[in-house]
Amino acid sequence: MNDLRYVARWGDPADAVTLPSGVTSLLGTALGVDAPRPAAHAAVLPCATLDAPVLDDLRAACARVDTDDAARLAHAAGKSTEDLLRLRAGDAPGAPDAVARPGGHDEVAALLAVCARHRVAVVPFGGGTSVVGGLAADREGYAGVLALDLAGLGRLLRLDPVSRTATFEAGVRAPHAERLLAAEGLTLGHFPQSFEYASLGGFAATRSSGQASAGYGRFDRMVVGLRAATPIGTLDVGRAPESAAGPDLRQLLLGSEGVFGVVTELTLRVRPAPAAQRYAGWTFPSFADGARALRSLAQDGPLPTVLRLSDETETAMNAATSGQAADGGCLAVVGFEGTEADVAARADGASRRLAELGGTSLGEAPGEQWRAGRFRAPYLRDALLDAGALAETLETATFWDRLPETYAAVRDALVETLAAAGTPPIVLCHISHVYETGASLYFTVVAAQAQDPVAQWRSAKVAASDAIAATGATITHHHGVGRDHRPWYAREIGPVGAAALRGVKDSLDPHGILNPGILLP
Ligand SMILES: Cc1cc2nc3c(=O)[nH]c(=O)nc-3n(C[C@H](O)[C@H](O)[C@H](O)COP(=O)(O)OP(=O)(O)OC[C@H]3O[C@@H](n4cnc5c(N)ncnc54)[C@H](O)[C@@H]3O)c2cc1C
Repeated sequence: MNDLRYVARWGDPADAVTLPSGVTSLLGTALGVDAPRPAAHAAVLPCATLDAPVLDDLRAACARVDTDDAARLAHAAGKSTEDLLRLRAGDAPGAPDAVARPGGHDEVAALLAVCARHRVAVVPFGGGTSVVGGLAADREGYAGVLALDLAGLGRLLRLDPVSRTATFEAGVRAPHAERLLAAEGLTLGHFPQSFEYASLGGFAATRSSGQASAGYGRFDRMVVGLRAATPIGTLDVGRAPESAAGPDLRQLLLGSEGVFGVVTELTLRVRPAPAAQRYAGWTFPSFADGARALRSLAQDGPLPTVLRLSDETETAMNAATSGQAADGGCLAVVGFEGTEADVAARADGASRRLAELGGTSLGEAPGEQWRAGRFRAPYLRDALLDAGALAETLETATFWDRLPETYAAVRDALVETLAAAGTPPIVLCHISHVYETGASLYFTVVAAQAQDPVAQWRSAKVAASDAIAATGATITHHHGVGRDHRPWYAREIGPVGAAALRGVKDSLDPHGILNPGILLP
């Protein structure tokens, strides 16, 4: 049954939230959101085109291949607002013809061989949380589309507490990985907002970044080794912590979004689970003052584990949605994890520095509140869409010296485009990840839904992406390229970069079956 209730939203419908009444009235008064937009109950799927002999060969390669509507619909799209809007309208153009659920590396390899023989497009499917159209492969020119659901690659294969590495199969979901590691007193420390559903293989394939990246690092920095099935054979890379043996081939797969091969195993650096965690809130008079303070900690320390700064609008909106009075200024969340002594020393040092740089401590409550609600935003987005609002996010990164320019340009582009369409938005922003040399900016946009909300968002996104490119920032800091960012990615890497990627593609995937239409310019 093609029931949309479990697909056209984030998570389990049982975990759905309702909007606080203050938010509903704010949406009405500030944005003119006054007409609920309930989702359709069922979706229309494209006709399946895989014929019986191909399905027989797929079933000979893999014990479980499903072709029912429920399986097809569950793999039809990722979780961008555009994906959800289309599904909510009952439209599922990205539904694959069939869903294979391999149980290990060898079955993945066997499936790729069948798909190459019959020219079937293959979409590796981890947690299905892509927000850049990364699961919407081209259909044209292919016998059909096969989703390769990797949930069956769900084991911890090896744990080396001496070297502090763990080897997982790539389909392991993040919460399961953390549970397995916690039993040994360890953690990965990778907590993106999509943590509850995303997979380790997906993190590697998109070069994901978690909210605690200042302390634990980006996911790609955690990958010590990996195994991938490609249409021409298996690639095993990473036999030492560091190596000077030629170019680092791990980097070919990290961020490759399934176009060069299917990551089936990952060896990851792990850390001791923190004995102490201390989160606090700080306020700064302005976004510029706060950014200066974050830069100081990122460059000269002490470096927190989590370091984020909301702009004035986001600070005011967060206060309004949690029923608090807005006192102006910009809220920073500063979190430390580690041993008791290490946390105490770093937190005290950082507090002194933040106060010197104009910050005022708000104590632990705002930090703990952020931590408790850190995975809540996607549930709120569903409630906003139900209410008739458009709600979406986008992100970028740039060097510290260009941060103010990119911030202003993207915000202006979003405001101007949506206002010109008759739906003036509220645009929120925070610095979400910091480095010595720069930081990422994460924007949230809320407006009234227009008649055609997909077209409405597309024009805003194009304007924002053009602004990102015009100020020299990257089109994505952590969401990846997928289908949505391809034109800007092509400009970012230029013709030589594109030719290099094409060369790799032609070598590893000569029939072009892996994720056609994704990533590659
Ligand atoms: C509400 C929400 C919040 C998010 N927050 C964050 C965040 O804080 N940080 C962040 O980095 N991202 C975030 N994302 C984006 C998304 O969660 C990440 O891109 C994540 O890494 C995707 O993992 P996944 O397992 O869901 O991959 P999928 O969505 O299943 O796949 C993503 C891409 O990788 C390919 N792929 C998946 N698995 C493999 C594999 N094993 N081998 C080869 N290719 C593969 C797919 O074909 C696809 O192109 C968020 C998304 C949502 C919806």
